Amino acid sequence: MKVRILGCGGSFGSPLAWGKNGNININNSKNHRTRSSILINVNDKNLLIDTSPDLRSQLYNAKCIKIDAVLFTHEHSDHTAGLPDMRAMSLINQSIIPAYLSEDIKESMIRNYKYIFDGHKDYSPFMTLKTINNNFLIDDVKIETFKHNHGSIDVQSYRINNFAYSTDIKNFYENDIDKLKDLDLWIVGLLRYDPHPSHAGFEQIIDYIKYIKPKKTIFTHMTALLDYEELLSKCPENIEPAYDGMTINL
Ligand SMILES: [Zn+2]
Ligand SMILES: [Zn+2]
Repeated sequence: MKVRILGCGGSFGSPLAWGKNGNININNSKNHRTRSSILINVNDKNLLIDTSPDLRSQLYNAKCIKIDAVLFTHEHSDHTAGLPDMRAMSLINQSIIPAYLSEDIKESMIRNYKYIFDGHKDYSPFMTLKTINNNFLIDDVKIETFKHNHGSIDVQSYRINNFAYSTDIKNFYENDIDKLKDLDLWIVGLLRYDPHPSHAGFEQIIDYIKYIKPKKTIFTHMTALLDYEELLSKCPENIEPAYDGMTINL
């Protein structure tokens, strides 16, 4: 299995705008972050988690020309707004691409992207919508999933074998954190050092890591308040920040 960080920025990306650099050293390319999503290659299938507004350039840079399925974490536009870019993947492969998402975001996704799922006038649909509840299969790939808290809404965590992805996380519900035991890699959202109403801060995330004890942890979904080198220097062993294009073989 191979995981590529397509983007590891927060909802604004990093830097915020020209000359609005937050705390980052803009001369370090690892601080230039597009919006968060990952590409997973497993059993010869390409699974995409989230369709960020930067999706087209992310897939181009990854030299990716085929997506077999898309899994959505939640409906926030930094995780969904690149969905129309999937049209090229559908055209190139002559395929209708399945989108897996939870029941609670189904309505808003259909409202926002009706032509993608239903077609409109001269345009045929190019994706099909699949609602998920619990664990499910994409062909022979077992996907484990559960909801975690992200302020006033929920987000899906996804686990495939010994790898899991939990972005935009504030808290776990009940004992769900135990579903992340025995991981080789956990990619987890870290917006900034301080806690945010919808995102856990650095100390809280470190507490989660100490409890789960993944072999390796990588931070994603970082604002321009987090400088790569500075954050790396604060990270205990086996924890590091992501950068766009980072690839991990598992
Ligand atoms: Zn987000
Ligand atoms: Zn979010």
